Amino acid sequence: MHMIMGYERVRVLFLLFLIPLPTVLGWGKEGHYATCKIAQEYLSEDALFAVKQLLPDSAQGDLAAVCSWADEVGHTHRYHWSSALHYVDTPDFKCNYEYCRDCHDSYRHEHRCVSGAIYNYTMQLKSADAGISSEFNYNLTEALMFLSHFVGDIHQPLHVGFTGDLGGNTITVHWYRRKANLHYVWDDLIIQSALKTFYDSDLSIMIQAIQRNITDNWLNDVSTWEHCAHNYTACPNRYASESISLACKFAYRNATPGSTLKDEYFLSRLPVVEKRLAQGGVRLAAILNRIFTSSKTRIAQA
Ligand SMILES: [Zn+2]
Repeated sequence: MHMIMGYERVRVLFLLFLIPLPTVLGWGKEGHYATCKIAQEYLSEDALFAVKQLLPDSAQGDLAAVCSWADEVGHTHRYHWSSALHYVDTPDFKCNYEYCRDCHDSYRHEHRCVSGAIYNYTMQLKSADAGISSEFNYNLTEALMFLSHFVGDIHQPLHVGFTGDLGGNTITVHWYRRKANLHYVWDDLIIQSALKTFYDSDLSIMIQAIQRNITDNWLNDVSTWEHCAHNYTACPNRYASESISLACKFAYRNATPGSTLKDEYFLSRLPVVEKRLAQGGVRLAAILNRIFTSSKTRIAQA
């Protein structure tokens, strides 16, 4: 009994510690938490086993607990190099994405963008799982935490936005009566308003509602979401193409600088946000399931 209370208190402290951190680099804390909670429901037994082996002790077996880790450390000197990996910028008003054209950082270093990062960390986890020895000593715990975060980020439409406005960061709007930039509206404010308006300010209720949609309204779409052409383990180019298309159709539309966004915008965009959280979760699970096929036997043998 005492042990359970102690554990709960540690967990509460851990959450309290995480909540006030700034989250300018991706879906907010809630979005990433939801994506990873949804993913956990879809993990195979092998993948769940491997994930639990790789998670840091502080996560206490819960992948969702570390899904904002990449944002938290992104502000530190040690991980500053990773800040370009949370997004990919595309040419203004083109409304499309091409890996070779777009996946680079502001110094034009190739592969340094969110889709390149998803390929990279998928490869790291996969090569380790297959027992391929590498000249590099990958930190697989970090690889898992980065991958889980970036699969969430790439599903946030404005993480695949225009170069000229930094994915909506330089577009100042009003969210109801509050001044905010458009990127932050999509990272956090739509989700926060939804929590208050529809979910009794309880993230677990919102996650349950999304999970019900997956097993109900979207049931026939799930296998299409999970699928990657050519039997690839992950297909971030597809996720990125969808995001810029949604950014043009929904995020940028009627959100010009100085505009006030309220019910009409909120209610028509919330279904897009909820579907992207669902897709991010289902696809993260599919990727991890493909990476960790029968790793249980391999780890047991090691
Ligand atoms: Zn991020």
